[in-house]
Formats: sequence, structure tokens, C-alpha cells
Amino acid sequence: MKKSIRLRITEPQLTEIKGYLYPGDSKESVAIVVCGVAESKGEIIFLVHEIVPFNLEEIKSRSKSHITWKTALLAEKLSEYIDGSYGILKIHSHPSGIETFSNADDISDKSLANTVHSWLGRENSFMSAILLPDGVIKARVFNQEKFEDVDDVLMVGDRISPKIKNIGELAEHEKRSHQVFGSETLSKLKKLRVGVIGCSGTGSLVIQQLLHYGVQSLTLIDPDIVEAKNLNRIVGATTGDVKNKSSKVDVFVRYANELGLGTTVNVMQESIASRAAVDFLKGCDVLFSCVDDVYARQVINRMGTYYLIPIIDVGVKILIDGNGGVEHVSARADYILPGESLHKRGIFNSSQLAAASMKASNREEYRKQLDEGYLPGLPEEVPAVITPNSFAASFGILELLNRLHGLRFGLDTEIVSLRMSLLDSYIEPIKSRGIDTSLVKKIGLGDQKVVLGYPSL
Ligand SMILES: [Zn+2]
Repeated sequence: MKKSIRLRITEPQLTEIKGYLYPGDSKESVAIVVCGVAESKGEIIFLVHEIVPFNLEEIKSRSKSHITWKTALLAEKLSEYIDGSYGILKIHSHPSGIETFSNADDISDKSLANTVHSWLGRENSFMSAILLPDGVIKARVFNQEKFEDVDDVLMVGDRISPKIKNIGELAEHEKRSHQVFGSETLSKLKKLRVGVIGCSGTGSLVIQQLLHYGVQSLTLIDPDIVEAKNLNRIVGATTGDVKNKSSKVDVFVRYANELGLGTTVNVMQESIASRAAVDFLKGCDVLFSCVDDVYARQVINRMGTYYLIPIIDVGVKILIDGNGGVEHVSARADYILPGESLHKRGIFNSSQLAAASMKASNREEYRKQLDEGYLPGLPEEVPAVITPNSFAASFGILELLNRLHGLRFGLDTEIVSLRMSLLDSYIEPIKSRGIDTSLVKKIGLGDQKVVLGYPSL
């Protein structure tokens, strides 16, 4: 089967490449980019990891319409990447604005593709691209003696911009949504491959909204079955599901089928902290994190960085006093780009993360350290009700719509989190992105022998 080929790049990476390729003298320039790879049965996604520019001594000659460089230097520059897990992207500028590859490009790409393929030991490990002056990228691969255009280039940044070919006729059920958000936003939403991790309290409400907006591709993952205690908050789940021990994910296959708006729902009954789960989700264009523990949030956060996927993390916090009183109820949604983290945004602290990681990987050791007072206790059963969940889920969906097409006035992309206190009746917009220097080095690493850097996965 022919694999579909895609490229993902972040906005800061594109800005860095533009700086090298358009130095201001209107001559062609070139850079080599080391990419991580996300490979599955049907597709290969190149993920920009590290940009390796050429300095002037390494260029043989350059003009407005050509560039030649010392390709022999490549092996030396990239020696640390001779490993099956990477791909190499050559990207050069066409200051003239010509959108097609030249004959000289064909000759140079064929030769370089064959070098890289033999060097990394497989086809589909080389991609060539032109960066046009307006920032558009045209990319192709060379396999089995043939050039083939890359299916999609996805920019990961403050906006999510899937390419839409034509908007088409609106279906009857889309007309009311269109009046609010416009047909372009709805078309982009339909084109997106959306993943939802966690199909319980907040997740079920996120999925419900996505289905009613007509998202066409939904990937859901949750390890649990429906229990009686869930019926106060999972929309779509029934007493019959409790009796039949239905999985939570299957509730939404049924919901989507009965709704009948044409959504393809792929499901896996599995915890996010596994290699199978990461493989299942890595092709998604955006992920909703609707889980209720710190370790799972951290795994999803890392996945966004490794695979260049924007994450919308939805959370609710309820604190009770144990005497029938409620001390705190809040709901929030955070938009997280590669290299940013919930930890650095203060959603949880290092000792909570250490406790949750220990609990997930070694329950016995966690109990022991808890008893000895080395770790903070984590709540076993957190209180959960549908009303704050609905606020958090709606904040998450609004965040997605805002990223597809500016909705908020003024500082629409600068606000990365909305936090609402339901008892104090206020909403706080947060602008601090929470750059995480330990994650920044992992941007675009993709498939690695140690999944997401966790030996336990
Ligand atoms: Zn060219």
C-alpha cells in the first residue's frame, strides 16, 4: 500500500528557517533539517527536530536561481543522527517565487535522496522542499526512482490551519453553526483529525460537541468500562451500559452512529501510558487531554512535544471540606504547543508529578514512600459532577474554534489558558506559556526506541 507522506513544522521553526533561507540578498539559500518520524501502517509524518544551516564556506556558489553546496559535508554534520529513527529534509529558497522544482533541483534531489536512503538504510527517509517568500512550503519525496508530492504540510502554532480545498454545500444541520462560526472554520474543523484521550466526565462532553459540529475523524482512547458511579456525568452512557459492562469508548461509537452525521470514530480501550496508545494517536492533528491524573496529563503533554501536536488540556478541580461543604470549584482549558508544559504553567507541582509517576509505574513503592512521608498523597476518588465539567469542555471546544479562526477580540492567540472559578464567579485569562526547557530539546523527536523518553512505556 502506498503510504501517505506529511510534514509537520512549528511556527518558531519556520521563522528560524526563514532567517537562514532569506538572509536579505535575494539569492538562493539552503538548510538541512533533521526530522523525527511518526510512522504507521498508512502514513509517514516528518517532524521538524533540528535545523542545520550551511555557512558561506560550505556553499560552492549561489545566485537568484541556483545554489550548489558541498554535499560531502553532510555525513560529517549529521553523524550523530545515523540511526533508523530520523529523516532528512533539504529545504531551499526560491526568492523568485517560482513554485516548482527546477531541473537542477531534480538532479540534486535524486542524488541526495539515494545518498540518504543508503545512509539511513531505508526509503522514505529523505524529503526535499522549497520555501517560498510568503512562507508557503512545497515538499516532495523521491522513492523508487519517482518524485511524489507530500500530501500535507501542517503548521503547528498559535493557529491550527489544515488546508481545505473547497468549502462545498452546507448540510442542513451545519447551517446554525455556520451562522456563528462561518463556513471556513467549520470546513477546517471537519477536515481535522481530532483525538480525545479520556472519555469520562469532561471527555464525553468534548466528544459530544465535536460530533454535533460534524468532525469527520475522531480517535478515542480510554481504558475503562462504564460503572454506575459514572452515570451522573458521562453523556450517552446508560444503565444498560453498566449492566453490559460496555467500554466507555464504545458508548461514543454508538452515539456517533445514532447521530448519523458521518463521523468515522476509531477507538482503543487502553491507557494513554502505553506504546500502543501513542502509536494509535500520533497521526492526529490535535489532541484533547480529558484525563483526571497528573501522570497521564504529563504523558500527553510530552506526546504533543515529541510529535508536534497541539494539545487542549481540559481540567476541573473540586475541593470539599468533608462535611458536605464545597471549598473550591474551578474549570479550565489550556492550549499547549510543543515545548510548553502544564507543569511550568503551575497546574501541578514536581512532587505531585513524582507521586503520580510512581503510582503509575510501581504502586507498591508508591504506597511505601507515601507511608514514609516522602510523597504527597493523591486522591483516590475525586468528586466529579456534570456542571463544572460542561464549562471545562466548552472552554476546550472554544479554544479549538479560536485556534482555527480567531474568535476572541484582541489578544486572541496570546491567551493560552482560561481559568474559571465557579464559586467566585470570575474568569481569568492566562498569557504565560510555560516554556519547559527540558521539553524543548525533545521537539519533533517522534518515534524513538524509548517511547516519549519513558523506559516504562
Ligand atoms: Zn530550486
